[in-house]
Amino acid sequence: MNNKLRVTVWNEYRHEPAEPRIAAVYPEGIHTAIADGLKNYGFAVRTATLDQPEHGLSEDVLANTDVLVWWSHIANHEVSDEIVERVQRRVLQGGMGLIVLHSACMAKVFQRLIGTTGDAKWREDANKERLWVVAPGHPIAAGVSEYIELPHEEMYGEHFDIPAPDELIFISWFQGGEVFRSGCCFNRGNGKIFYFRPGHEEHPTYFQPEIQKVLANACQWAAPSPSMHRPIRGNVAALEKIPGSV
Ligand code: ZN
Repeated sequence: MNNKLRVTVWNEYRHEPAEPRIAAVYPEGIHTAIADGLKNYGFAVRTATLDQPEHGLSEDVLANTDVLVWWSHIANHEVSDEIVERVQRRVLQGGMGLIVLHSACMAKVFQRLIGTTGDAKWREDANKERLWVVAPGHPIAAGVSEYIELPHEEMYGEHFDIPAPDELIFISWFQGGEVFRSGCCFNRGNGKIFYFRPGHEEHPTYFQPEIQKVLANACQWAAPSPSMHRPIRGNVAALEKIPGSV
């Protein structure tokens, strides 16, 4: 029996085929770069893209996905509500993990699950970003030193329109003076969600080993536990006899 963690990496895959300067950074697409990084950690990884039937996310694919990794940007609005609801159900009921990357903070799947817009301020420059670990004992930060430095990244700044995260793992500092909550954990239903900020399409961020490490840690953290006991809900009989009851 194959006990490997099953990860599906989803990408809208719109920038890379259309823009040569982005294809030069990610010749096989952002999804392939992320998938290759995760395969090095021994996960069973597949990819899916927007233009595939059902966006590559059939009931069968989702039923066989422990963690879904999501990158999207210009085509956030093109994702069908039916697939958004399917992903939401699989997270809330099935306990599938969801890793939301960079501009996917405004993806419908993320907005549906957190309940806010996910909007923030941004500046498309290529200056330094430092991701400071603010939860050093957390499994997502395992093996990461005090901070991760990215030489060239787009700036995202507060205020970030999210509910207060259940756990905050990284705060970014940007050379222009802004800060941002860059690594945020949310518990929703039976599922776990991690938002991770880096990964603008013009920079080779997903080839950086520390970033690949965080993504691998996040997949492991977000995966449903095989021993998880599903909570019982609804109308139930008392566990013990209640005095005076019939
Ligand atoms: Zn970007």
